[in-house]
Amino acid sequence: TAPDQYAVFGDPISHSKSPKIHQLFAEQTQQLVQYTAQLVPAEQFTVAADIFFAQGGKGLNCTIPLKELAWAYAQHKTRRAQLSGAVNTLALQDDGSVLGENTDGVGLITDLINNHGISLQNRRILILGAGGASRGIIEPILSQAPRQLLIANRTVDKAVELAKIFSVVGEVDSCGYTDLCGEQFDVIINATSTSLSGQLPPLPGNVLAKNSCCYDLAYSNQPTAFVYWGLAHGAEKSLDGLGMLVEQAAEAFYLWRKLRPATAAVIALMNAQRGY
Ligand code: NDP
Repeated sequence: TAPDQYAVFGDPISHSKSPKIHQLFAEQTQQLVQYTAQLVPAEQFTVAADIFFAQGGKGLNCTIPLKELAWAYAQHKTRRAQLSGAVNTLALQDDGSVLGENTDGVGLITDLINNHGISLQNRRILILGAGGASRGIIEPILSQAPRQLLIANRTVDKAVELAKIFSVVGEVDSCGYTDLCGEQFDVIINATSTSLSGQLPPLPGNVLAKNSCCYDLAYSNQPTAFVYWGLAHGAEKSLDGLGMLVEQAAEAFYLWRKLRPATAAVIALMNAQRGY
């Protein structure tokens, strides 16, 4: 029998680690699965997804800049995906329709709790950024019952808008960076795209509480600028998004195959490959 087909679409895509991660999951769970990476610019997304599913494809991951388009493409969405306005996982259903889910937020929470022992419950959480990645993590963070969830963004209006959208789930505050002076947080999550260009969000120096954690959703083969910032400002832990990447992939794999792969060995291998 031919393997079931899965793929990740994005632009750029050549450096994607997802094919490797899914190959490791498939080997571990003994699933006959082929997972490829395809360069798909935004303007070609709908046609490419139609062709993929018409040729028997079972599921897609969608990354930058396609998550909003994937949201619009999905005929059904989970409540989480519906609210977030962004979909990173499409799954063909038995009736031929396509379900959209966002596994990014669950991936983040699983990495924090299971892999790093960091609880969000009753803690003050600060999210930096109000783009697609931020939208995907807000509801899963609220589900952990934090003491406070504050979104800071350069364009303050976008943070205000997100706080409003998610007010149906729980209380979310919003502000600009200058409003952070004098405030302290237990967990700071960088959901801006600044690390991709080696920059930092304009944070005041002393926003970290005692025993705090910094988490950059971005990852690369070096510690990101924000990971260094956290270490330099006294964070107890300063992590990047590689664990989240593996955990969101595991969540997508589960949605597709109804099997939950073990992630620890996969994360260890991905970390070993980048050498830090
Ligand atoms: P978007 O382009 O949708 O949003 C970018 C955000 O960054 C906006 O809030 C923007 O602010 C802010 N920003 C950009 N430049 C600056 C700057 N110089 N100073 C302050 N703020 C700035 O990107 P995404 O939300 O899609 O992605 C964000 C990050 O999350 C990326 O690094 C991506 O790789 C990562 N990610 C990681 C995942 C993982 O599995 N580990 C999963 C998903 C995303 P403004 O609104 O003012 O423009």
